[in-house]
Amino acid sequence: MKIAIVGAGAMGSVYAGLLAGAGHEVWAIDRWAEHVEAIRERGLRVEGASGDRTVRIGATTDPAEAGEADLVVLATKAMDVSAAAGAARPLLGPETLVLSIQNGLGGPDAAAAVLGDERVVVGVAGGFGASLVAPGHVHHNGFELVRLGERSGPVTPRIESVAEVWRGAGFTVRTYDDVDRLVWEKLVCNVAFSGTCSVLGRTIGEVLADEHAWSVASRCAVEAHEVARALGIGLDFGDAVAHVRAFGEAIPGAKPSMLLDLEAGRPTEIDFINGAIPREGARAGVPAPFNETVSALVRALEQGTIDAVLEGLRVALHAHRVTLRRDVPGDYAFPVTVEALGAGVGSLRDERTVDLRTQPVVALLQGGEQVVQDDTRGAFDDPSFHRMLETYGGLAAQIVTPIFADDRLEAIISVHVLGEPRAWSADDTATCRRAAARVRGLL
Ligand code: NAD
Repeated sequence: MKIAIVGAGAMGSVYAGLLAGAGHEVWAIDRWAEHVEAIRERGLRVEGASGDRTVRIGATTDPAEAGEADLVVLATKAMDVSAAAGAARPLLGPETLVLSIQNGLGGPDAAAAVLGDERVVVGVAGGFGASLVAPGHVHHNGFELVRLGERSGPVTPRIESVAEVWRGAGFTVRTYDDVDRLVWEKLVCNVAFSGTCSVLGRTIGEVLADEHAWSVASRCAVEAHEVARALGIGLDFGDAVAHVRAFGEAIPGAKPSMLLDLEAGRPTEIDFINGAIPREGARAGVPAPFNETVSALVRALEQGTIDAVLEGLRVALHAHRVTLRRDVPGDYAFPVTVEALGAGVGSLRDERTVDLRTQPVVALLQGGEQVVQDDTRGAFDDPSFHRMLETYGGLAAQIVTPIFADDRLEAIISVHVLGEPRAWSADDTATCRRAAARVRGLL
């Protein structure tokens, strides 16, 4: 079978490695160019609970290079599913099935909204603890369960055949007649620990051991259980508190990925996990104040400081440098006030530039445009910029995003990739706009 994994991050790489190990033709498709390059050059190494193997597979940032596949697996985070589904179109033939496999509520619906109801099916993975060690190298702690089902209605032959393919690659797979049950069983556990561990910066075991922390975590789970019941979803367990405690006791040292994302300054899946409970609760007439409060706190933490937002942007875009220049009123100098730097990259902080009004790019920014350049040599007539180019052997690409306050250009975020040329995707520019909105709120 030809299988394309779109979003070959931590989990997508585990899927890709094991499915390729079972003899399938697998393509890893990701917007992270360094990871793709490493897989092309050295193969994909998957290490951990399933063993240690390196597989040679196709890898690309451009889905058209992979061509039509029999199965497309969307393995991005929930908030990236729409964009990934849009990017996946060149992978689709008339019979191609799309498996959308995220935590939380809403990933497969987002995929179906882009690709149509007919071809999208649902997956939920539990107990993997996967993380990327380095480009081309992933590790996973566990190997527990992959749940599969149709978006509505009972298990069909096509779900059974996908399940067989995954079982053949060594996964434990359970198929469900009822998609809501499939999703909510995992969600009840996720809402207990994701939000609470993230707000407190604690592991699952530490939350279990602290009666106050546990009272919040268990209330989040009870609310989710009550909402599920009110929506008519029959779950496998009657006592949510006991169920969630048993789930947590099996993995006391683990940090939920939401906490890992917060720590790395990356956007979290809060709106699809705890944030989904008050939303669904409103539909069912069941209030969910614990989940609502925990979600608000995680969103506040997610906003973080300007430094954290810029560092998150640098990591998310695999950039070498992200700078924030702020206007000096009356001077129009825009010195670099905050920056996030990759290893070995020197600082430009506090360096003043020439009068930016003379720069062509600033005229565009003042018009509200975001400037995306894949090769920016010669774009600026600015001594400090040219010193940077000399030091780092050229600037391969940059995205410059304006930040306005009261219709005035107040600050500029620039993302720089130094050295090798690089093309930006629409997702990259959207990520910069989101970061600019967060910085605007913090200025
Ligand atoms: P990840 O961030 O490691 O991987 C996502 C990948 O998707 C990244 O490499 C990113 O570059 C890529 N991506 C995003 N948008 C893209 C696009 N438009 N086109 C191509 N690639 C794109 O995330 P993860 O930890 O693998 O998690 C994926 C999902 O699985 C999440 O919903 C998560 O909650 C769930 N999950 C994760 C684990 C785990 O142990 N990591 C376990 C169970 C479930």
